[in-house]
Amino acid sequence: MTIERTLSIIKPHAVEKKIIGKIFDRLECAELTIIGCKMLQLTLCQAREFYAEHQDKIFFQNLIQCMISGPSLISVLEGENAIQSYRQLMGATNPIHAISGTIRADYADSLTENAIHGSDSSISSTREINFFFSCYELFSKKYQL
Ligand code: ATP
Ligand code: MG
Repeated sequence: MTIERTLSIIKPHAVEKKIIGKIFDRLECAELTIIGCKMLQLTLCQAREFYAEHQDKIFFQNLIQCMISGPSLISVLEGENAIQSYRQLMGATNPIHAISGTIRADYADSLTENAIHGSDSSISSTREINFFFSCYELFSKKYQL
């Protein structure tokens, strides 16, 4: 059993649509535990740094505009194989390709406004969790990093 942590962001357009509860319900039903949570409106600097790996992509400016357009709900999820398990719940990046019943298939508005972010590897999850949270803001009974 591999207990992992992953970073989730419910993107501003999804917060605006009032689907935080629906998304949290899905991940808690999938045995992921929310061990930290905060609402933040990302600054331009934060968004550009968080998504720095995409800075040369054609969609970068649109992505940044989407991410700073309103508050996001940022959380740390913990559970068995949490990184892959959450990515499966999320569905494909492009909602057109997302399997029916996944979060993106049900709630994405477009490829950029695709409802949620989830870490894609353990290296990313460590970086992304440390980007937003201190250890004092995480509450785990299972696993101490
Ligand atoms: P995320 O990192 O948000 O969890 P992901 O890992 O599935 O998503 P990435 O390739 O890391 O996808 O892209 C980051 C985000 O950039 C996507 O969630 C999406 O909002 C946006 N994006 C990715 N590819 C495109 C594209 N071709 N056109 C427009 N926006 C895109
Ligand atoms: Mg990604």
